[in-house]
Amino acid sequence: MPLPNSGDKFREECGVMGVCGHPEAAKLVYLGLYALQHRGQESAGIVSSGDGAFRSHKGMGQVPEIFTEPVLEPLSGPLAVGHTRYSTAGDTSLLNAQPLVVDCNKGLLALAHNGNLVNALEIRRRLEQRGSIFQTTSDTEVILHLIAESRSRSLAEALSEALRQVEGAYSIVLMTRDRMFAVRDPRGFRPLSLGRLGDAVVFASETCAFDLIGARYEGEVEPGEMAVADAGGLTRVAFSEPAERRQCIFEHVYFSRPDSVVFGRPVHLSREKLGRLLAREAPADADIVVPVPDSGLAAALGYAGESGLSLKFGLIRNHYIGRTFIEPQQAIRDFSVRLKLNPVRDILDGQRVVLVDDSIVRGTTSRKIVRMIREAGARQVHLRVSCPPTISPCFYGVDPPTERELIAAKHTIEQIRQFVNADSLAYLSLEGLREAVGDPEGTRYCDACYTGKYPTEPVNLELETGLARRRG
Ligand code: SF4
Repeated sequence: MPLPNSGDKFREECGVMGVCGHPEAAKLVYLGLYALQHRGQESAGIVSSGDGAFRSHKGMGQVPEIFTEPVLEPLSGPLAVGHTRYSTAGDTSLLNAQPLVVDCNKGLLALAHNGNLVNALEIRRRLEQRGSIFQTTSDTEVILHLIAESRSRSLAEALSEALRQVEGAYSIVLMTRDRMFAVRDPRGFRPLSLGRLGDAVVFASETCAFDLIGARYEGEVEPGEMAVADAGGLTRVAFSEPAERRQCIFEHVYFSRPDSVVFGRPVHLSREKLGRLLAREAPADADIVVPVPDSGLAAALGYAGESGLSLKFGLIRNHYIGRTFIEPQQAIRDFSVRLKLNPVRDILDGQRVVLVDDSIVRGTTSRKIVRMIREAGARQVHLRVSCPPTISPCFYGVDPPTERELIAAKHTIEQIRQFVNADSLAYLSLEGLREAVGDPEGTRYCDACYTGKYPTEPVNLELETGLARRRG
């Protein structure tokens, strides 16, 4: 059977990567996608450009399953763009796999998108009424149609025009035969970094992709900015009026790798501070601090450092489960969680445990983990969560649980504590979260999943959710 989502985590939907001006561009993109694999594991694709032609390969599965030596070899040329994606649909998944490639009145284009457009359906319907035929169910395709529809001869102008019509989150890498565009929406929801490798220009969702290929991080593609790389070098222009920054705070809480610099800030710094502030706000009378691996590790380190309690690896994660497994016919309690996490009895037996996790979505996994820790002999389990209660779904590029599925949307903290059967439960405050990411005033980050205050008009959000669930 397929390995289910834990049900207790939001899922990032995409990672993008582009290399312009390197003889082995596609191979570098391939390596970069390895580093970005955590941002999407269901499909991936690479398109390269050389000698006036595009070559592409896309497939379902993870990067090493899709890109073998014979598949990569033909992807020649000095430019390449890649994408890794999470999706929920069946048949349409490969159809929607990115980069999307079109041959239109603006030439050959390959586009990779991280984010979600909240007015995509509205625009799509308008375009369909005028005769446009869509090939995918992805919101990303809307951008390509808008580019093709533009009367402007300059691609940069047509792209700007298209982007001024869409609303929501987009970090995009767009490749032509000989140029690469990188753009980020005016609020800057999703990250997009710029780097150099010798003379080549490199773009990636996270800087961990640069580290793997030896590229130097030079900074972010700024919100509302268009960076254009070609043989003549790099130019950077603003394509939209400045808007209030609304970078996704959840990138620092959970999505991004701790070894990345995201929105100009090292993620591990934020994560450890989340734990330190959590220890100050919600101390526990306990013996040891145990992280829920891997994502709770940095916060647990911070909690332990601040509280003076020792950090113990009381839960061990199995990293080698693969994508499917066969469950024995005789049911084993909490099988899917046990497959991933195993408690260490010698560490937990007789202890009062502070269990640190980075988020609770539905609460079902937390409940199973608390039970496992108790069964391993722990006397008490105090659950500490390094962000505030998640009360609202996301519409900006994250697999959105509905409000109904979010346990904190309809239950008090005491009710959640009873459900997960912890001796105590505490979340980090919104103020603590903002302080941990270096934004105490709350002016630079989106925190709508904790506050319900969305930075874009909530027009058609319900309508868009159907499309959002099918895109990457
Ligand atoms: Fe990030 Fe939450 Fe805002 Fe979505 S709603 S962009 S997950 S902070």
